[in-house]
This record gives sequence, C-alpha cells and structure tokens, in this order.
Amino acid sequence: MGAISKGFSEAVGHTPLIRLRALSELTGCEILGKAEFMNPGGSVKDRAALGILMEAEASGELRPGGTVVEGTAGNTGIGLAHLCNARGYRALIVIPETQSAEKIGLLRSLGAEVRTVPAVPYADPNNYVRLSGRIAAEIPGAVWANQFDNLANRRAHYNSTAPEIWEQCDGRIDAWVAATGTGGTYAGVALFLKERREAVRCVLADPDGSALYSWATSGELRAEGSSITEGIGNSRVTANLADAPIDDAVRIDDQEALGTIYQMLWKEGLFMGGSVGINVAAAVETARRLGPGHRIVTVLCDGGDRYRSRLYDRDWLAGRGLQQPQRLPLVSG
Ligand code: PMP
Repeated sequence: MGAISKGFSEAVGHTPLIRLRALSELTGCEILGKAEFMNPGGSVKDRAALGILMEAEASGELRPGGTVVEGTAGNTGIGLAHLCNARGYRALIVIPETQSAEKIGLLRSLGAEVRTVPAVPYADPNNYVRLSGRIAAEIPGAVWANQFDNLANRRAHYNSTAPEIWEQCDGRIDAWVAATGTGGTYAGVALFLKERREAVRCVLADPDGSALYSWATSGELRAEGSSITEGIGNSRVTANLADAPIDDAVRIDDQEALGTIYQMLWKEGLFMGGSVGINVAAAVETARRLGPGHRIVTVLCDGGDRYRSRLYDRDWLAGRGLQQPQRLPLVSG
C-alpha cells in the first residue's frame, strides 16, 4: 500500500491484477485481469490521458489555462476531463454520436465541452479524430492529444501498466492478450514484456468490424461485420500499434463477448464493459491454443456502468440481433 497520493494524477494506476477464478479453472491456465476499471476516472485510458498531458506540459506545448482537444470514443475524453479539472485546463471533446449515452452524459457532467458528430470512416475529413485535430489547430494555445498517433500514449503503458504487471507476476507471464483501439495499451505492454522475456506471447484481440485481425494474420487491412463493443477495433494501423510485436491474433464476435461479460458478472462479481468481453474471451482462446499450465494476462478496461442501457439491456441487445445471456438459478439447500 503506497503513501498518500498527491491528487487525481497520482491516484492513476497501481491497479490490482485479478485472478479470474472460473475461467482459470475452466482452462487449466491462470487467467489474470489487470483491473483498469479501478482507475480514478474509471478506465485504462486515465493512464494514456495522464501520459499525454504530462509530456505536453514538459515540452511547454500545454500551458496553465490552456485547452486540450481530443477525438475519443469516450474513455480518453473522460480521463482528460478529470485531469483537465485537476491540473487547470479546459477540455474539448469530439465524440461519435453512436457512443453510449452514459459516456456522453458523463463527459458533460465532468464539465468538458462536448461535440457529438456523426460516425463516419477515418477517410472522411469529418471523422471525429480528424475533426478534433482541425479544431485544436484553430484554437490559440490548444493542444491536440492525438491519442491514436501520439506515442506518449503507449509510453504511458510502457512506463506504468507494463512494469506493474511484470512485478505483480514476478516475471512469470506466458502470454499478453489485448484488443486495441489506439493500440497504446497493447503495444506499450507488449514492447516492455518482450524486452524482459522474449518468449512472452503477445496476442492481439479484435472484434468483428475491425480490420486488425486480418492485418495481423495476413498483412491485409480488411474488415467484416460489425460490433457493439466501443473503443476497440480499427480500420487502420496507428503509430502506436505500427511496430508492436504480434505473435498471434484472435477474433471474437459480439455474442461470445456478451456471454463472457455476463459470466464475469455472475461468477466473478465483476461488472465489465464490452471490450473486456473481447479481451477475456481472447485470453480463454489463447489458453486453449497454449494448453493448460500457462499464465495469461489481459486487461479489464472499464466497468459495466457505462453500458447499462446497452450491454445490460435485453431490448437494446435484441434490437441488434443479440441474445441477453440467461442466468441459471442458483441451486440452494
Ligand atoms: N476498451 C475500452 C473500453 C476503451 O475505451 C479503449 C480505448 N479506446 C480500449 C479498450 C483500447 O485501449 P487502447 O486505446 O489503449 O488501444
């Protein structure tokens, strides 16, 4: 247990590594989840947001009272909004209107200026990421966080998430599995672990609708289908992901991801967001590929609260052709 944290920024990180009991028993492997939902802003993106702000402060680009602009699926914006309050900046967030109402509402509650925009592909100049870059360029003294291609993002994970995992595992890790949005988490941790132990297998997890599974397995960016998960998958290879080690890749569909997060709730007591379903299901598949006796680490990116009206709502799921998993009654007596 550390000493007193100096404010929000120092409370970021130092998250538990949780053994997922039921899935570990099922696979004969040890499946461990880094509890990033326990960050003070509620997601893995607090680390990237902090790293990006600290580098911008150190370079002199970000000055007191300045504005931080970002295009985000939500969690980076939420981390930035907290940190901007704590460190004395204004946050301007551009977010696709397809993201959950919980995340958009939370951003507004935190005091960020929020611009919701139609979800259009990256190739379109009005894509939320590209638009956020243009807005930043128009505001004097504003900084564009640029999480997708700003390597401060993955450095934050290389310098904090990865060494924490390495220490918590005492260096005994057989595989690292994670989905990527910007690629910051996956790449930062993969690069660190490979330096420590070349044999650690780095596995990229991907939802349907993303081109990264195809890119990782065949070199060709090609997407099929779609996904209700938020914050992961991509149609392009970001600077954060470009030179990351990838030994294997696993694609998980929404129904399997849903089954996984409901199992986590019922069996582990963990109330998780959709990307966790992709990560943990891919960790289970990796366990199958490696065989029993291995230790596999993945990341529990955010909590279920942000998706209650979607992933945990039967009608919303049914409207997308998905079935809400049904819980079997506990047998008593
Ligand atoms: N899961 C969720 C819920 C996210 O918001 C994000 C960030 N977009 C990720 C996973 C992926 O993290 P990264 O950007 O580091 O690849």
